[in-house]
Amino acid sequence: MAEMTDISEFESPLYRTALVQLDRVAARLDLESNIHERLRHPRRALVVSIPVRMDDGNTKVFRGYRVQHSTVLGPTKGGLRYDADVNLGEVTALAMLMSWKCALAGLPYGGAKGGVRCNPRAMSVTERENLTRRYTVEIMLVIGPDHDIPAPDLGTDEQTMAWMMDTYSMTQGKTVPGIVTGKPLIVGGSAGRREATGRGIVYALYQAARHLSQPLRGQRVVVQGFGNVGSVAARLLWREGCVISGVGDVKGGIVNPHGIDIRQLEAHVAEAGTVAGFPGTEPVSNAELLEQPCDILVPAAIGSQIREDNADRIKATIVAEGANGPTTPEADAILRDRGVTVIPDILANAGGVIVSYFEWVQGLQYYFWRESEITTRLQEIMTRAFNRVWALGAKEGTDLRTAALMEGVRRVAEGYRVRGLYP
Ligand code: NAD
Repeated sequence: MAEMTDISEFESPLYRTALVQLDRVAARLDLESNIHERLRHPRRALVVSIPVRMDDGNTKVFRGYRVQHSTVLGPTKGGLRYDADVNLGEVTALAMLMSWKCALAGLPYGGAKGGVRCNPRAMSVTERENLTRRYTVEIMLVIGPDHDIPAPDLGTDEQTMAWMMDTYSMTQGKTVPGIVTGKPLIVGGSAGRREATGRGIVYALYQAARHLSQPLRGQRVVVQGFGNVGSVAARLLWREGCVISGVGDVKGGIVNPHGIDIRQLEAHVAEAGTVAGFPGTEPVSNAELLEQPCDILVPAAIGSQIREDNADRIKATIVAEGANGPTTPEADAILRDRGVTVIPDILANAGGVIVSYFEWVQGLQYYFWRESEITTRLQEIMTRAFNRVWALGAKEGTDLRTAALMEGVRRVAEGYRVRGLYP
């Protein structure tokens, strides 16, 4: 398979990581090479140019992607990312991770991901709307409610999904709620979707705490990222009685060893647009934030934050990966040797896609569930997935990431095995 290690077309650290992980797990599972080979490649990768009329009257052309990794278990599912670093390799790696994540949670989906290389914070609302609508039209070739269903991710939100849904629906001459998930409630969003990823992290942490005999109440928690995932995880853990001793966003971090009042912090962020400057806290850089003394670290911002050069200074005993790919393989090995329990991304942050699945099912049936039903079902799936991974890890003598990937990859491979190769 030597030629397959040439990834120049997909050049990105995250894609390298995704392939290293897959190859390692394929060896452990003793996967037949024909299936392993298919799993290493995305099924489709669409690259589009998105011309947008900017507020100053000039036209700017953005680069966008939609990658579908595997369609063997069902339609594909995955978020849409607006970020200045988006590239084909990163989007492909994230699509691959979505395949393992959906399979691990037992959802009838393959993995996909979308991205546009842009800085959404430097764009006006009108520019973001124009970008989103044109991107939707450009990827219309490959998306659809029974085909590929986008959702929010880094830099996108409910409003982005509403624009996508409206654009797609306008071209169909009817409203198509199932085209995206993570929509506002009024147009077919699901109760509990906004909180789903953060809530899922808390459910995973309940189980980790139970297995490690380390009750959540009183644990010191540091959260990197205070967006959709990080802010909800921080709020729910704070409500569980954890001491949130540090929080950060793109502008930097804040710490207070005695704990930060998350409700007041949310009010501050609503005004200031950042956690920075919150009264009663000390400012720290993002690098310092990760190394603060704490019991639980929740990286919930971007990839490759815990690396070879800082992994031995991480003080937490549990790392719950809210973000996708926040830990490099080298750092993973260091944390493993140091006995840190890492709850891997495809398990810890699966709550988002699980409730997206609920939203999609509700949209297809035009029948909506109460929030209590959503959270109960979410907790069931998260708890089952966590305990399966924990048991497999114990049986195989591996860390949780290896066990989670083994379970996810095994299921996708089984799909390929029974469906065979067309023609
Ligand atoms: P978001 O855009 O709502 O929030 C991102 C947060 O990270 C913001 O607080 C931002 O300031 C911060 N941030 C951005 N760049 C940073 C940097 N360089 N250093 C430090 N902080 C930085 O995004 P989100 O939806 O909360 O997603 C966060 C992560 O969680 C991403 O990795 C995403 O792929 C992953 N994720 C999201 C979902 C979901 O449902 N939204 C589901 C699964 C995984």
